[in-house]
Amino acid sequence: MARSRTRTGLRKLTKNHSKTAEYLHLTREQRRAVVEELAELISGWADAVLFTEAQDKTRAPSDKSFDFAFEQVVTRFNTFLGSRGQSLGIIVQDNNSTVASRLTATMRRYHSTGTRWSEIDRIIETPLFVDSHLTSMVQLADLCAHAVRRFCEKGERLLWDRIVGRFDVKGGHLVGIRHFTGRSSWSCEICTAHGRSSSGGRRQQGAARSNRRVHLLVA
Ligand SMILES: [Zn+2]
Repeated sequence: MARSRTRTGLRKLTKNHSKTAEYLHLTREQRRAVVEELAELISGWADAVLFTEAQDKTRAPSDKSFDFAFEQVVTRFNTFLGSRGQSLGIIVQDNNSTVASRLTATMRRYHSTGTRWSEIDRIIETPLFVDSHLTSMVQLADLCAHAVRRFCEKGERLLWDRIVGRFDVKGGHLVGIRHFTGRSSWSCEICTAHGRSSSGGRRQQGAARSNRRVHLLVA
Protein backbone atom coordinates (compact mmCIF):
# COMPACT_ATOMS: atom_id res chain seq x y z
CA MET A 1 0.00 0.00 0.00
CA ALA A 2 2.79 2.37 0.94
CA ARG A 3 4.52 1.72 -2.37
CA SER A 4 1.38 2.34 -4.37
CA ARG A 5 0.77 5.61 -2.49
CA THR A 6 4.31 6.70 -3.23
CA ARG A 7 3.94 5.84 -6.90
CA THR A 8 0.65 7.73 -7.09
CA GLY A 9 2.26 10.71 -5.39
CA LEU A 10 5.18 10.62 -7.80
CA ARG A 11 2.86 10.39 -10.81
CA LYS A 12 0.92 13.41 -9.55
CA LEU A 13 4.08 15.36 -8.89
CA THR A 14 5.46 14.52 -12.35
CA LYS A 15 2.16 15.50 -13.98
CA ASN A 16 1.99 18.82 -12.11
CA HIS A 17 5.65 19.57 -12.78
CA SER A 18 5.24 18.88 -16.49
CA LYS A 19 2.52 21.55 -16.62
CA THR A 20 5.01 24.19 -15.48
CA ALA A 21 7.80 23.19 -17.89
CA GLU A 22 7.05 25.97 -20.35
CA TYR A 23 7.28 28.61 -17.61
CA LEU A 24 10.53 27.51 -15.95
CA HIS A 25 12.55 30.21 -17.72
CA LEU A 26 10.52 32.91 -15.94
CA THR A 27 11.57 34.22 -12.55
CA ARG A 28 9.12 34.05 -9.64
CA GLU A 29 8.43 37.78 -10.03
CA GLN A 30 7.78 37.42 -13.75
CA ARG A 31 5.35 34.55 -13.13
CA ARG A 32 3.55 36.60 -10.51
CA ALA A 33 3.31 39.53 -12.94
CA VAL A 34 1.83 37.26 -15.65
CA VAL A 35 -0.82 35.94 -13.24
CA GLU A 36 -1.72 39.48 -12.13
CA GLU A 37 -1.95 40.63 -15.72
CA LEU A 38 -4.26 37.73 -16.60
CA ALA A 39 -6.49 38.46 -13.59
CA GLU A 40 -6.63 42.08 -14.75
CA LEU A 41 -7.62 40.89 -18.22
CA ILE A 42 -10.47 38.77 -16.78
CA SER A 43 -11.67 41.72 -14.69
CA GLY A 44 -12.34 43.62 -17.92
CA TRP A 45 -14.36 40.90 -19.61
CA ALA A 46 -17.89 42.23 -19.19
CA ASP A 47 -19.28 39.15 -20.99
CA ALA A 48 -17.62 36.68 -18.61
CA VAL A 49 -19.58 35.48 -15.56
CA LEU A 50 -17.89 33.38 -12.89
CA PHE A 51 -19.40 30.62 -10.73
CA THR A 52 -17.61 28.74 -8.03
CA GLU A 53 -18.03 26.81 -4.83
CA ALA A 54 -15.49 27.45 -2.08
CA GLN A 55 -15.50 24.78 0.59
CA ASP A 56 -13.92 24.71 3.98
CA LYS A 57 -12.53 21.17 3.69
CA THR A 58 -12.55 20.76 7.45
CA ARG A 59 -16.33 21.24 7.38
CA ALA A 60 -17.21 19.31 4.20
CA PRO A 61 -17.18 15.50 3.95
CA SER A 62 -14.07 15.00 1.82
CA ASP A 63 -15.30 11.98 -0.17
CA LYS A 64 -18.32 13.92 -1.41
CA SER A 65 -16.97 17.45 -1.57
CA PHE A 66 -16.13 17.42 -5.30
CA ASP A 67 -19.56 16.07 -6.31
CA PHE A 68 -21.21 18.48 -3.91
CA ALA A 69 -19.36 21.42 -5.51
CA PHE A 70 -20.18 20.17 -9.02
CA GLU A 71 -23.89 20.02 -8.18
CA GLN A 72 -23.79 23.54 -6.74
CA VAL A 73 -22.03 25.06 -9.75
CA VAL A 74 -24.22 23.21 -12.27
CA THR A 75 -27.37 24.39 -10.47
CA ARG A 76 -26.19 28.00 -10.34
CA PHE A 77 -25.15 28.00 -14.01
CA ASN A 78 -28.55 26.56 -15.00
CA THR A 79 -30.35 29.21 -12.92
CA PHE A 80 -28.25 31.92 -14.56
CA LEU A 81 -29.16 30.61 -18.02
CA GLY A 82 -32.84 30.55 -17.04
CA SER A 83 -32.62 34.23 -16.12
CA ARG A 84 -31.27 34.97 -19.60
CA GLY A 85 -34.44 34.14 -21.52
CA GLN A 86 -33.96 31.20 -23.85
CA SER A 87 -30.22 30.86 -23.30
CA LEU A 88 -28.59 27.45 -23.37
CA GLY A 89 -25.24 26.48 -21.91
CA ILE A 90 -22.55 23.85 -22.23
CA ILE A 91 -19.88 22.77 -19.75
CA VAL A 92 -16.24 22.53 -20.80
CA GLN A 93 -14.10 20.82 -18.20
CA ASP A 94 -10.47 19.91 -17.61
CA ASN A 95 -10.09 16.24 -18.48
CA ASN A 96 -9.55 14.18 -15.39
CA SER A 97 -9.80 10.47 -16.05
CA THR A 98 -10.70 9.69 -12.45
CA VAL A 99 -13.84 11.82 -12.48
CA ALA A 100 -14.82 12.17 -16.18
CA SER A 101 -17.00 9.07 -16.38
CA ARG A 102 -18.55 9.76 -13.00
CA LEU A 103 -19.45 13.37 -13.89
CA THR A 104 -20.85 12.25 -17.25
CA ALA A 105 -23.16 9.81 -15.45
CA THR A 106 -24.00 12.48 -12.85
CA MET A 107 -24.93 14.98 -15.55
CA ARG A 108 -27.18 12.42 -17.25
CA ARG A 109 -28.91 11.93 -13.92
CA TYR A 110 -29.35 15.71 -13.53
CA HIS A 111 -30.88 15.90 -17.00
CA SER A 112 -33.30 13.18 -16.04
CA THR A 113 -34.24 14.04 -12.44
CA GLY A 114 -32.58 17.41 -11.70
CA THR A 115 -30.23 18.34 -8.87
CA ARG A 116 -31.35 18.65 -5.28
CA TRP A 117 -32.37 22.24 -5.98
CA SER A 118 -33.70 22.46 -9.51
CA GLU A 119 -34.31 20.89 -12.88
CA ILE A 120 -31.38 21.08 -15.28
CA ASP A 121 -33.10 22.16 -18.45
CA ARG A 122 -30.76 24.82 -19.87
CA ILE A 123 -27.45 22.95 -19.99
CA ILE A 124 -27.11 20.87 -23.11
CA GLU A 125 -25.04 17.70 -23.30
CA THR A 126 -22.78 16.16 -20.69
CA PRO A 127 -19.51 18.04 -19.96
CA LEU A 128 -16.98 18.28 -22.78
CA PHE A 129 -13.62 17.21 -21.36
CA VAL A 130 -10.60 18.93 -22.82
CA ASP A 131 -6.83 18.93 -22.34
CA SER A 132 -6.04 21.98 -20.21
CA HIS A 133 -2.62 22.25 -21.92
CA LEU A 134 -4.42 23.12 -25.13
CA THR A 135 -7.35 25.11 -23.78
CA SER A 136 -6.49 28.52 -22.40
CA MET A 137 -9.99 29.13 -20.98
CA VAL A 138 -9.56 26.14 -18.65
CA GLN A 139 -6.25 27.61 -17.50
CA LEU A 140 -7.97 30.93 -16.78
CA ALA A 141 -10.69 29.07 -14.83
CA ASP A 142 -7.84 27.53 -12.80
CA LEU A 143 -6.42 30.98 -12.18
CA CYS A 144 -9.80 32.16 -10.83
CA ALA A 145 -10.03 29.07 -8.60
CA HIS A 146 -6.53 29.84 -7.31
CA ALA A 147 -7.56 33.45 -6.56
CA VAL A 148 -10.62 32.25 -4.61
CA ARG A 149 -8.56 29.72 -2.67
CA ARG A 150 -5.90 32.27 -1.69
CA PHE A 151 -8.60 34.70 -0.56
CA CYS A 152 -10.53 32.12 1.48
CA GLU A 153 -7.50 30.48 3.07
CA LYS A 154 -5.05 33.38 3.42
CA GLY A 155 -7.13 36.52 2.96
CA GLU A 156 -5.02 37.50 -0.06
CA ARG A 157 -6.73 40.19 -2.10
CA LEU A 158 -4.24 40.69 -4.93
CA LEU A 159 -6.03 38.46 -7.46
CA TRP A 160 -9.39 38.27 -5.68
CA ASP A 161 -10.04 42.02 -5.97
CA ARG A 162 -9.53 41.78 -9.71
CA ILE A 163 -11.94 38.90 -10.36
CA VAL A 164 -14.65 39.40 -7.73
CA GLY A 165 -16.58 41.77 -10.00
CA ARG A 166 -17.06 38.96 -12.52
CA PHE A 167 -19.09 36.63 -10.26
CA ASP A 168 -22.80 36.39 -10.97
CA VAL A 169 -24.89 38.90 -9.04
CA LYS A 170 -28.65 38.62 -8.70
CA GLY A 171 -30.93 40.96 -6.78
CA GLY A 172 -27.90 42.57 -5.18
CA HIS A 173 -26.55 39.22 -3.92
CA LEU A 174 -23.28 37.67 -4.98
CA VAL A 175 -24.82 34.37 -6.13
CA GLY A 176 -21.95 33.22 -8.38
CA ILE A 177 -19.90 32.08 -5.40
CA ARG A 178 -20.80 30.30 -2.19
CA HIS A 179 -18.51 29.70 0.73
CA PHE A 180 -19.48 26.42 2.34
CA THR A 181 -18.57 26.21 6.01
CA GLY A 182 -21.08 23.61 7.18
CA ARG A 183 -22.80 24.58 10.39
CA SER A 184 -19.92 26.66 11.65
CA SER A 185 -20.21 30.39 12.08
CA TRP A 186 -19.77 32.55 9.01
CA SER A 187 -18.86 36.17 8.77
CA CYS A 188 -16.57 36.46 5.78
CA GLU A 189 -17.01 38.91 2.94
CA ILE A 190 -18.23 36.20 0.53
CA CYS A 191 -20.92 34.90 2.91
CA THR A 192 -22.15 38.42 3.64
CA ALA A 193 -22.29 39.40 -0.05
CA HIS A 194 -23.97 36.08 -0.88
CA GLY A 195 -26.78 37.03 1.51
CA ARG A 196 -26.41 33.84 3.50
CA SER A 197 -28.93 33.90 6.32
CA SER A 198 -28.55 32.14 9.65
CA SER A 199 -30.72 29.32 8.29
CA GLY A 200 -28.57 29.07 5.17
CA GLY A 201 -31.30 30.28 2.82
CA ARG A 202 -31.57 33.33 0.66
CA ARG A 203 -34.26 35.02 -1.33
CA GLN A 204 -34.33 34.58 -5.09
CA GLN A 205 -34.80 37.81 -6.99
CA GLY A 206 -33.97 39.31 -10.34
CA ALA A 207 -35.66 39.99 -13.63
CA ALA A 208 -35.24 37.81 -16.70
CA ARG A 209 -33.34 39.30 -19.60
CA SER A 210 -33.88 38.05 -23.11
CA ASN A 211 -30.55 37.08 -24.58
CA ARG A 212 -30.66 33.98 -26.76
CA ARG A 213 -27.18 32.47 -26.93
CA VAL A 214 -25.15 29.49 -25.83
CA HIS A 215 -22.98 30.05 -22.77
CA LEU A 216 -19.93 28.12 -21.76
CA LEU A 217 -19.15 27.02 -18.25
CA VAL A 218 -15.45 26.30 -18.10
CA ALA A 219 -14.53 24.23 -15.06
ZN1 LIG B 1 -17.64 32.75 4.29
